[in-house]
Amino acid sequence: MPGRHRTPAPMGCREAARVLQSYLDGQLDAAEAGRVADHLEVCRRCGLDAATFRSIKATLAGAAPEPEPGVVDRLEAFARSLGDGKPEHR
Ligand SMILES: [Zn+2]
Repeated sequence: MPGRHRTPAPMGCREAARVLQSYLDGQLDAAEAGRVADHLEVCRRCGLDAATFRSIKATLAGAAPEPEPGVVDRLEAFARSLGDGKPEHR
């Protein structure tokens, strides 16, 4: 069981996704941010989502000189999945 210390109730993917934007914007309190961070550590899919959002924000903020190869494709695929409301297109 990885990363269960100091987490009162394990955060699920749905909750993590709901607060992810606030988390990345630094708008969550420390306890809540800690729960999100714990989930991102143990959940590969949510961790990947977080990394994608970080890339988007960095790009929008002009912090990244140019996107890594493949990032744009991933962002487009992710944007499409948001539009469909489905995690994967099949
Ligand atoms: Zn998750």
